[in-house]
Amino acid sequence: MLTFDDGPAAADSDNPTVRVLETLAHNPYQDNIKAVFFTQTRAWHGGGTDTGRALIRREHAEGHVVALHSATWFHSNHRFMSRATLDETMQRGVDDLVAETGVAPKLVRPPFWAYDAETLDSYRQHGMQMLLTDLNANDGKIYGINFSWHKRSNMLTHLAETRKRWAAGAMPVVDGSTPIVVTFHDVNTYTSRHIEEYMGILLDVARELDVPLAAKPFYDDREELERAALASTVNSADAKPQLPGLWNWLWQ
Ligand SMILES: [Zn+2]
Repeated sequence: MLTFDDGPAAADSDNPTVRVLETLAHNPYQDNIKAVFFTQTRAWHGGGTDTGRALIRREHAEGHVVALHSATWFHSNHRFMSRATLDETMQRGVDDLVAETGVAPKLVRPPFWAYDAETLDSYRQHGMQMLLTDLNANDGKIYGINFSWHKRSNMLTHLAETRKRWAAGAMPVVDGSTPIVVTFHDVNTYTSRHIEEYMGILLDVARELDVPLAAKPFYDDREELERAALASTVNSADAKPQLPGLWNWLWQ
């Protein structure tokens, strides 16, 4: 399950979000892949611009799942907001996405993977559930890492960890398959130029680890994708899933 955070990008030429959308539609591995886009609806350099809003509409029109990441100017931490401010920003994000796509988002991903019981309660009250990740490309621009020189070993490490949970029966089965959530950042120009290579790496490390793939390894149907994503959500602050990078150490 391919998921993208922080977008859409606002660039008028060579837009990385556009490049990601074009690659998902046509690539050597599987055409017409559908992904989940965790959008920032008010980002000053992205979703809050005319170009950004048009791309949110395009993501929906092309059959992807449009979800919420933030509805603030910046990539703000939901856990550091007062409950009133958080509720306000969640409502704004839902309203923004309904205005562009006609559909209320059912999925949310917290900036910096930071949440607590109060955050989850606000998400729930606004009709959304939280999706974290199993694999992470570590390509977030804001973390200062634009170039992953060890893409393959990184994916291999994350998938090996995920494989243990899968083998232990700790992951959901939806429509006959276990969704494995992978996170990228579509605003990252390096990612957008290499997303095809990343897809190849994912298939390659799955084979190396003897993780059996579905006939079509990537989701290509919005309803099926959303069902799988909802089944993979975390809805209790007591669950302490492994977060990418150093975030467990930082938040817990
Ligand atoms: Zn983010």
